[in-house]
Amino acid sequence: MEKGNISVSTENIFPIIKKFLYSEHDIFMRELVSNAVDATTKLRKLAQMGEVPGEQGELYVEVILDKEAKTLTIRDRGIGMTADEIKKYINTIALSSAEEFIKKFEGTDKAGIIGHFGLGFYSAFMVADQVEIFTKSYKPEPAVHWTCTGTTEFELHPFDKADRGTDVVLHINDESKEYLEENKIKEILEKYCKFIPINIRFGTEEVELEEKDADGKPLKQTVPHIINNTTPAYIKAPAELKDEDYTKFYNELYPFSEAPLFWIHVNTDFPFNLKGILYFPKYKPNTELNRNKIHLYCNQVFVTDSVEQIVPEFLTLLQGVIDSPDIPLNVSRSYLQGDPNVKKISQHIVKKVADKLLEIFNTDRPSFEQKLESLGMFVKYGMLSDDKFYNTAQKFCLFKNTEDKSYTFDELKEHTQSLQKDKHGKLVQLYTTNPETQHTYIHNAQSYGYEVLQMDAYIDQHFIQFLESKHSDVTFKRVDADTLNKLIEKEDEAASLLSKEEEETLKSLFTGVVDNTHAQVELKPLSPGEVPVQITKSEFMRRMSDMSRMGGNQYAFLGDMPEQMNVVINTNHPSVKKLLAENNTGHARQLYDLALLAQGMLKGKALTEFIHRSVGELS
Ligand code: ADP
Repeated sequence: MEKGNISVSTENIFPIIKKFLYSEHDIFMRELVSNAVDATTKLRKLAQMGEVPGEQGELYVEVILDKEAKTLTIRDRGIGMTADEIKKYINTIALSSAEEFIKKFEGTDKAGIIGHFGLGFYSAFMVADQVEIFTKSYKPEPAVHWTCTGTTEFELHPFDKADRGTDVVLHINDESKEYLEENKIKEILEKYCKFIPINIRFGTEEVELEEKDADGKPLKQTVPHIINNTTPAYIKAPAELKDEDYTKFYNELYPFSEAPLFWIHVNTDFPFNLKGILYFPKYKPNTELNRNKIHLYCNQVFVTDSVEQIVPEFLTLLQGVIDSPDIPLNVSRSYLQGDPNVKKISQHIVKKVADKLLEIFNTDRPSFEQKLESLGMFVKYGMLSDDKFYNTAQKFCLFKNTEDKSYTFDELKEHTQSLQKDKHGKLVQLYTTNPETQHTYIHNAQSYGYEVLQMDAYIDQHFIQFLESKHSDVTFKRVDADTLNKLIEKEDEAASLLSKEEEETLKSLFTGVVDNTHAQVELKPLSPGEVPVQITKSEFMRRMSDMSRMGGNQYAFLGDMPEQMNVVINTNHPSVKKLLAENNTGHARQLYDLALLAQGMLKGKALTEFIHRSVGELS
C-alpha cells in the first residue's frame, strides 16, 4: 500500500470546492460521466488502432445507486488507469491554478468555474465525503484502488479487479442525501446526459419479446435502462434527415409542444466547430415570449440553457440545440460576449437564420406569409437589434394591410407612391392598431384609395420609430391621428364656405356640447363625403404616452396624463350646415356622440344616456 499527499499548493482545496460551488452540485454528475465517456472513446480509438489486446466488449457507462451503502458509482469500460497514471492525473491536480481561478472570479458566476470540465473529478467532493476509484488499465498492469476522504491525503494500493475500466464510488455525505434518490439521479442524468455519445445505463426496465409463452402472451425480459440517445438528429448531416426526423427531434426536446414552423440546421467545422438545429416556434401575437429554450451542448454534453451571452437576444426566441466545443465555458459569462470565437459563432448563427428566412421567402412566399404572425414579430425584433440581420431582413420583412395583403417595404413604397406622398415630399404610411375600433377611420382612408397597415403587435410601436429613423422620406401615422387632409397634406385644400360669423356660431355650438376638458373643437373644410364630426388624437402625443406606458423614459410623466383629443367639425358636410342654419344644439350633441362612438370612447353610463337620447329623438 502507498500513502501520500495530493500535490496542491494550497493546504486544503476541498472546503473551497464545497463552499464556492455550493449552488451547482448537480454538475458533479456531468463531470464524472464525461470522464467515463472520455475514457471509453479513447479506448475505442485505441482499439481501432489495434492497441487493445483481446475483446473490447460492449462499451457503456453505468450509474449504480446503492441506497443502503449510501454510494453512487459511475462505472465505465474505458481505458482505465495504472497506478502511475492515478498519481499523475488524479493526485497532481492543477489545483493551484484552480485556486487562483476561484479567487479571480469569486462573486461572479459559479457554474462557469467548474465550467469546461475544469475541476472535473474533484467536483465529486461537493456531494461525497469519501471517494474511491477502482481501476484497471487496458495495459497489462495490476488494478489499483485509490481512496480519499476529502483531505489532501490519499491511499493507493493494488487490488484484484478482472475487468478493464474504472469504478468511481462516491460515499454520499449527509447534506447531499438527495443524490441517493433514484428520481433525482434520473433527472440529472436526463438533463446532462441526454445526448452523450456512449450508452448510459441506469436501473433496469422490462421489455416485451417477440416470443410468446404458453398462453400466447409475449415473454418479458429485464434489460438495462438506457438514459440517452447517442445519435441525436443534430449531429447528423442535413442530407441524412427528412422533415419527420426534424419534427421527431423537436418532440424529443420539447414534448407536448405544438409543431415548429420550420428549422435551420447548422453544421460547420471551419473556422469553428458548430452543430445544431434551431427551430422557429409558433407565437401568438402579444403573448408571453418563451426565452431560454435553446440548449447549449459541448460535444453532446449538456452545458446550459441560458445562452443570452452567446447568441443575440432576439435569437433566444428560437428553440433547439447548439453544440460547440469552441465556446469557452470556464470563464465568467460577462466575458463571453467579448470572446472572438463566441462573436463569430453568434454572427454565423444570425447569418444562417437571415439567409434561411430569405430563402423561404424567395422560394415559397405564400407559406412565408402564412406564418407571418409568428415570424413577423421575430423578424422585427431581429431588425431592431442587429444591423446585419436588418440588411437581409429588409428584403423579406412584410407589412400587412387591413385586407390581409402583404407588402415588402419596397413594394409598399412603390404601391403608395402616387397617392400617399404629401406636399412636403414625405411618403405617409397610415396604420391601425385595432381594425375593429378604428374601423370608421380606416373606411374613410380607404375611400380615398389609401392603404392602411395593421400595426397591432406590441413591438410595432418601436418598429415604426425605428423605420422612420432609417428612412427619412417615410413617416407613419395612425389613421385617427388627424383628419385625412392633414395626415396626408396635399396642395389643393378645400376652402371653407362659411363666413367668420358662421364659424363663430358653429364653434360655440359644439363647445357647448363637448363636455371633455381635454378636448379641443376645430373647424375644418373637409370633403362633403367625409363624416361630419370626428375625433382625432395627435400621433406625437399618443406615441409619447404609449412609450412611457411601455417602460420608463423621459416622457414617463405623460403616461398618467389624460389623452388629449381634437373634435373636428367638417364645415362642408350637409348636416353640419343644416344644424348651423337651425342653431340646433341637440343635433350637435348627436353628431359629437356619434364621433365618440366611432372612436370607441362612448362607454358605460355615457353610452346608455346616448341610447336613451337617440330613442327620445325618434319618438
Ligand atoms: P479533466 O477531465 O478535465 O482532465 P479530471 O480531474 O476530471 O480533469 O480528470 C483528470 C484525469 O484523470 C483525466 O484527464 C483522465 O486522464 C483521468 N481520469 C478521470 N476519470 C477517469 C476514468 N473514468 N477513466 C480513465 N481516466 C480517468
